[in-house]
Amino acid sequence: MHAIGDLIWLQDVQGRCLDANPAFESLARTERMRLLGRCLEDVLGPRLAEALWQPDWTALQAGWPCTHEARLTIASVPCLYEITHIPQRDGNGELVRIQSLGRDITQRHQQIEQSLRDSRRQLADIIDFLPDALLAIDRDKRVIIWNQAIAKITGIPPEAMLGQGDYAYTIPFYGERRPQLMDLVFGPDPELERRYAKVTREGDTLTAEGFCNALHDGRGAWILAKAAPLRDADGQVIGAMEVVRDITEQRQAEEALRQSEEVLALFIRHSPIYAYIKEVTPTQSRVLQASDNFEQMIGIRGSDMVGRCMDEFFPPEFAAKISADDWRVVTNGELLRLDEDLGGRHYTSIKFPIAQGGRTLLAGYTIDITESKRLEEGLRQLTRLDPLTQLFNRRYFFTLAEQEYQRFRRYHRPMALCMVDIDHFKSVNDRYGHLVGDTVLCAVAQTLHDNLRQVDILARYGGEEFVILLPETDLQTACASAERLRLAVAERRIETASGPIAVTLSLGVVAIDNGRSMTLEQLLDTADQMLYRAKQAGRNRVEAWDLACSQEAGGC
Ligand code: GH3
Ligand code: MG
Ligand code: MG
Repeated sequence: MHAIGDLIWLQDVQGRCLDANPAFESLARTERMRLLGRCLEDVLGPRLAEALWQPDWTALQAGWPCTHEARLTIASVPCLYEITHIPQRDGNGELVRIQSLGRDITQRHQQIEQSLRDSRRQLADIIDFLPDALLAIDRDKRVIIWNQAIAKITGIPPEAMLGQGDYAYTIPFYGERRPQLMDLVFGPDPELERRYAKVTREGDTLTAEGFCNALHDGRGAWILAKAAPLRDADGQVIGAMEVVRDITEQRQAEEALRQSEEVLALFIRHSPIYAYIKEVTPTQSRVLQASDNFEQMIGIRGSDMVGRCMDEFFPPEFAAKISADDWRVVTNGELLRLDEDLGGRHYTSIKFPIAQGGRTLLAGYTIDITESKRLEEGLRQLTRLDPLTQLFNRRYFFTLAEQEYQRFRRYHRPMALCMVDIDHFKSVNDRYGHLVGDTVLCAVAQTLHDNLRQVDILARYGGEEFVILLPETDLQTACASAERLRLAVAERRIETASGPIAVTLSLGVVAIDNGRSMTLEQLLDTADQMLYRAKQAGRNRVEAWDLACSQEAGGC
């Protein structure tokens, strides 16, 4: 049992002992009585006295205690004591005595050292556990940290690297001894800096990307490195550390993305349709890529459109509409389909959002559909027209007549119908042949057409029969028109391959006004009856039925 407990003694200002406790007695290996009035140095010897007695006179004179640590050897065991000298002053404030206390802090000190060791151990564990490769060197450039992650990517275990100097740490990265990023912490080195793609500084921290040819058994790898100084408690640089991350895969992914973007850009540039990618804000759409053939649409090559906004290509209102549509597509994430007319041509457009590099962009294409619209319209006309006479065919006549009839009903307007049949047409065919018959048929159709108003609807109703709907026409006017047609045909000598031919027409007319209701079928039927009557009456004439008077009008 070496512990002797706390030391307590009292001295005067000359350093003479005035009192001492049993612990002090056993430290001094003498009795208290033999200590009194004597200087410590005389009793304890100079070394022990100096360890115990270290007065800070300035503090003591001012009435402040002072403390120091003393290493003592008690019964051959090293101990650590905390010694405190406490001043005692008289009524005038004069320092008269010093009370000293010595506390055995050996155990406490050991605990502190243990917890320091523990926290060092924990720090080492944390460093080892880091997913990023970490290494550090001291001022002499000897390796002091080489964690598991760096051991893994280099294949060198910590025990083989720790303590190594002379740039041993760069061999697994570059296959040679040379400085690396963290060496820049100790001072500038432009040549070293040039070896990295780009070195950036943020406070004390350096960041750079570089290629390490020796990594992965010489296959090499791209790394992202960060280096920073290690400092002591006073802020002095005592070393440097570097974190290294393998970014080869990331680089490869970026490269693949860049390549696919390049391919996309090529596709767009040379696309036969008008294709583009735009960057969209609430008020503006800016072209990022566009096909060169935009030159055909707006006179500007796609490559010259890049970086420019809609109002540089289109009138302000149209540009604003495009931008608003674009913003809607990007924010709603929906596909938008539009039909637009521009400069007399028809276009259909598709717009949709695409994700690129974390942004939402707008992709779209526009197709010029002017030609197909024209073809479509032509086809539509074909289905409406009689191929021989180019008049409306019977089916389309019903479509138009139905619309006209509804209008007549709604606005209570007058309307007339006229049925026309060529007289003895069979004999024309018989005498001159079908082809000449066709010529005559077409000539009659043309004559009818030329003698009608724009609003009248003329159609080929059957073989050599025609029908005419006369809007806004009362019976009298309709009869006059019919008579005009009859005369026009009768007086005409139709030029044919077999010489001039004359034909006559029989016409049946019916008219209604708002006072009467009759279906379209009934109207046609009545006109047909009137036509029949004209035939009966000897042909080349007009017969009419005035429904308004509910009586037969007879020949006009
Ligand atoms: P009507 O009407 O005065 O009683 O005598 P029609 O000879 O005209 O009488 P019908 O209705 O019997 O004969 C009509 C003829 O018209 C029969 C048909 O050969 C002829 N025809 C009908 N369609 C065409 C056509 O597209 N081309 C020619 N060349 N003839 C046609
Ligand atoms: Mg006939
Ligand atoms: Mg007929």
